[in-house]
Amino acid sequence: MFSLEDIRRTPALLKLDLYCRGMRILSSCDDADGVGRGVLRTRAGLGSGLEIVLPDGMWTNVPVTETFARSSPYALHRRDGRYVITRDGAEVAPVELSPRPGWYDRTTKSGKKMTRIGTLQGTYLAIYPAKVCDYWVTKPDKVNCRFCSVGLNLGVDDDTVKSVEEVLEVVHAARAESKITYVDFNTGHYDGDTYLDLLEPYITRIKKETGLLIGVQTPPHPDLGRYHRLRAMGVNRVSFCFEIYDRERFREVCPGKHAQYGMDRYLDAIRYCAGLAGEGPAGEPWVVNGEIIAGLESPESSIRAINWVTSVGAIPTVCVFRPLAGTDFAKEPPPDPEPLVPVFARLYDACMEAGLPIGCAPNIHVSLVMLPEECKALSGKRYVWKELKLAALKRGLGWYLNRRFAKADAAVT
Ligand code: SF4
Repeated sequence: MFSLEDIRRTPALLKLDLYCRGMRILSSCDDADGVGRGVLRTRAGLGSGLEIVLPDGMWTNVPVTETFARSSPYALHRRDGRYVITRDGAEVAPVELSPRPGWYDRTTKSGKKMTRIGTLQGTYLAIYPAKVCDYWVTKPDKVNCRFCSVGLNLGVDDDTVKSVEEVLEVVHAARAESKITYVDFNTGHYDGDTYLDLLEPYITRIKKETGLLIGVQTPPHPDLGRYHRLRAMGVNRVSFCFEIYDRERFREVCPGKHAQYGMDRYLDAIRYCAGLAGEGPAGEPWVVNGEIIAGLESPESSIRAINWVTSVGAIPTVCVFRPLAGTDFAKEPPPDPEPLVPVFARLYDACMEAGLPIGCAPNIHVSLVMLPEECKALSGKRYVWKELKLAALKRGLGWYLNRRFAKADAAVT
């Protein structure tokens, strides 16, 4: 177990430890209803926890409902109106509940709770706009990814139907009140590869009316030409979740993805899209992500995945496996955090060595994963010139994008 001193000194270690050990919420927090965001089940494998902000402005989503969280050494207390995390009774850090926006308690004109259309994850708006992934309804046996909870979320906390009007209403509310800068779309697999067709009407309207940054996470479309089209529409990020680099384990954990696409299709799409940086409308940043889940394969294999993704000019997204209640892997143990430290240290080092533009977009804090830039404290290495270059890029991009967003805001009001 990490020492108390280490987790007090290094919020990145605390973030990682909380992902792996979860947290209990003590009764002293009971009288604070309505302050935080509540616990909502959204997204395929992570968004089931409590959204909080750790020291150093590190946003996170801490498991609190899963079985393992009930025996966690970590607990959330409320003392004199302030929140504090303890471990085995010893104070670790003051924290804040992620602010609950006013729109979380409002409905769309069509009468749906706005959180059934989209939710904040950290500081960006996340939307799963379509029906349940087809892997959840394959007959005679489901072939869903074993860790995934999408089939359990939709229709419960997340609506199964989200019209373009409803999504735009929520996007505008989230921009006006939560100052979002980024909207993230996520879909599962649909027979006929219709996922990009489904997303394009949302993307076009959001870009036109807000100019916000937009990301798309879907399976790899068989027609790679579709990514030129996304780029031309102003999409800023595409993400491909191959989850596991070890091919045997991939086949076991993601049977639908294995049979339908195979890992090579994911890798080819990442490589191909990373080559599109020179295209697209002027001033639209472009990032390609390859997403994996640490804890479902060996740390060495996760590191190999990170090395491969960065070698083609893409940025790895590294989640931590969470055995969500009700999923096929609900009874699996969460990973030990200690062996994952080298994985996250490598995440930072590999991005810096490859000169990738990490942490540059304004006001994007991600609660569901450890961002590469958040892992700096876990790496023993320093990249002085590259860090200075990144800081300059961040300043320039932030200045340009914030002006663009403000112009779009003025046109709306
Ligand atoms: S592709 Fe896998 S992870 Fe994604 S929604 Fe479908 S079952 Fe879940």
